[in-house]
Amino acid sequence: MSSPRFKAAELAISRPSEDMEKVESLKPTSIYGKNVFTIAKMKDYLSKSTYKELIQIIGEGTKISRELADQIAQAMKTWAISNGTTHYTHWFQPLTGTTAEKHDAFFEPDENGDAIEKFSGDSLVQQEPDASSFPSGGIRNTFEARGYTAWDPSSPAFIFETAAGKTLCIPTVFVSYTGESLDYKAPLLKAIESIDKAAIDVVQYFDKSVTKVTASLGIEQEYFLVDLSLFHARPDLQFTGRTLFGHMSAKGQQLEDHYFGAIPERVLAYMVDLENEALKLGIPLKTRHNEVAPSQFECAPMFEEINLAIDHNQLLMNLMEQVAVRHHFKVLLHEKPYSGINGSGKHNNWSLITNTGVNLLSPGKTPKNNLMFLTFFVNTIKAVYEHADLLRASIASHSNDHRLGANEAPPAIISIFLGSQLDEILEEVESARVAKKVKNDANLWHGIPKIPDLKLDNTDRNRTSPFAFTGNKFEFRAVGSSANSALPMIVLNAIVANQLIEFKTEVDKQIKKGTKKDLALLNVIRRYIKESKAIRFEGNGYSEEWALEAETRGLSNIKSTPKALDVYVKEENLVLFEKLGIYSKRESEARHEILLENFFKKLQIEARIIGEVVTSQIAPACFIYQNELIQNVKGLKDLGLSKESYSSQINLVERISKHTNLILEKAEEMRQARKRANTIEDTRELAIAYDEIVKPYFDEIRYHVNKLEKIIDDNKWPLPKLRELLFLR
Ligand code: ADP
Ligand code: MG
Repeated sequence: MSSPRFKAAELAISRPSEDMEKVESLKPTSIYGKNVFTIAKMKDYLSKSTYKELIQIIGEGTKISRELADQIAQAMKTWAISNGTTHYTHWFQPLTGTTAEKHDAFFEPDENGDAIEKFSGDSLVQQEPDASSFPSGGIRNTFEARGYTAWDPSSPAFIFETAAGKTLCIPTVFVSYTGESLDYKAPLLKAIESIDKAAIDVVQYFDKSVTKVTASLGIEQEYFLVDLSLFHARPDLQFTGRTLFGHMSAKGQQLEDHYFGAIPERVLAYMVDLENEALKLGIPLKTRHNEVAPSQFECAPMFEEINLAIDHNQLLMNLMEQVAVRHHFKVLLHEKPYSGINGSGKHNNWSLITNTGVNLLSPGKTPKNNLMFLTFFVNTIKAVYEHADLLRASIASHSNDHRLGANEAPPAIISIFLGSQLDEILEEVESARVAKKVKNDANLWHGIPKIPDLKLDNTDRNRTSPFAFTGNKFEFRAVGSSANSALPMIVLNAIVANQLIEFKTEVDKQIKKGTKKDLALLNVIRRYIKESKAIRFEGNGYSEEWALEAETRGLSNIKSTPKALDVYVKEENLVLFEKLGIYSKRESEARHEILLENFFKKLQIEARIIGEVVTSQIAPACFIYQNELIQNVKGLKDLGLSKESYSSQINLVERISKHTNLILEKAEEMRQARKRANTIEDTRELAIAYDEIVKPYFDEIRYHVNKLEKIIDDNKWPLPKLRELLFLR
């Protein structure tokens, strides 16, 4: 019983008692934002005039002068050092999908051999991390090897605390010297700007006082927890984030007893600790509960301005991992750590809110407000209809492929769920007769049905829809749990911005021809409702019938990442992003390349791990057990017993031979397939080869490994079994 598996299991069993001590819920009001250089704190550290200037700049998004930057840097340094910070870093989100930081100390040696604490405006505003080790999709090779990070004043600096010390983190964008973005944040900020502008222009039809429209985002984050020592006894989990083998335990999620059930105490201690840390960083974490699968959980903060919400989600993912270690857990953010039970997503709740405090996706009380709601509601639906393939691409990854369109739902078909009330209202608007010549407003309003108060808790919940309207926001549910939400949110905001621009052009054209404004609006809205009908679906998105029906509706259903990504480089989309100022053609092409590269590299790693574990751990364990059986049979034979008395052992020996041979053979075949794939030069073709030729071996090998797992002596099985991983004590 001294194999790594059993040692790990013993440790896991001993955890609960020791891990729960010393965690208590801190009072949110006393810790919230403690480690953030908030606007309120800036006020204490800046002169009145500097503070005013900064607020204005943040509001308008204009450039910060060198002088102002120097003053803010001084203030930031004073605050950070008085809080025990010794280092600072530009914190950015390169296209690797994680966050990156390069720490510098505040001190600099002076000419007398002493050290002085130094942090200038220059250091705040711009840094030059070595860009060559981050993915750039070829942008750096052809032009300039360097990249730089630049301060994003719209997301506040914060102090990140680890056992090793405290670091001041300054959120930044990461761009190449030739100006191309190399990260997620730079294009996101541009997308935010384009939706703001496009939405303001349209809001003017209804309310001239609106000067800013903010996209808001609330991210629900699903995750799995697994005991740290068991995690380390599984090389597949360790290196790929998911189990590549493992027979599903006899009890999975079929009893549905985990969802909203009591949270295990050890997990609760983790959650409380995580919430304390998140609150200190100004992440308004509010919700916690169990999810559907065993040892699956969810947390969600209050929604925030989209750029901040995404920074916070990235930071939260870091924090989740860091805090987990203190509790001897490992957080699995992978979309599908275990096949056979639910995967994890990251629901992106999105809405548009004006600076006057109006949610444009909240049905209004008056007809005028209703028309405004319908405008934004229907434009969003139309945008999703027109660009469903872009949204699909925005959530494509090797890991999310296991959720979308794999054997288990949700599907890779983008559709929108509205709920019966709103679905009917759109039908009514579409079919209502509005007199061509509206004599007075009263006549027009007949064309707009009254929208009853939607009770948010009552809005239908359709968990099978990838894109659902939930009362006053759209919820994009197909986003993967490990994703950076920037990718889907760049696309969503871009396509809605584009749609609003088109809408305005069409409405203005009608107004110019003499149609009354409200009627012009309604005319275009009604046409959009008609045109985008195919994307609306209220039924079960997981059913086979839906896949068939979707096909007759002309909706695409692209199941694999490399092909889903094609749309990023379709001419019309290159033009779309360029027109909106979000990606230049070169940037789109570079991103496409990076995503493909990332895809096949991840599959390559999985293939290698499978090969290694099969040959060096699983097959040897099988041989040992098989040998024991053979010895046993020989002994029985020597005793002169009849053949029947050892026929089951012989049968086992044969089955072990069969499956062991197969896993070794298949592993070798897979290696050859990989070698052939690696000779392909075109990245797209290479990714497709990995997807279609290498990847199918994974499940084939898993199948035989799982057969072996069921017949090999439990004491000899080298890998922690799923039942051990899944049921936390
Ligand atoms: P659920 O969908 O599980 O019922 P909630 O209604 O609590 O969850 O909301 C989920 C997330 O949506 C939370 O992060 C919440 O803050 C966010 N949210 C609520 N209203 C909006 C809105 N108008 N815009 C964006 N996000 C919102
Ligand atoms: Mg939700």
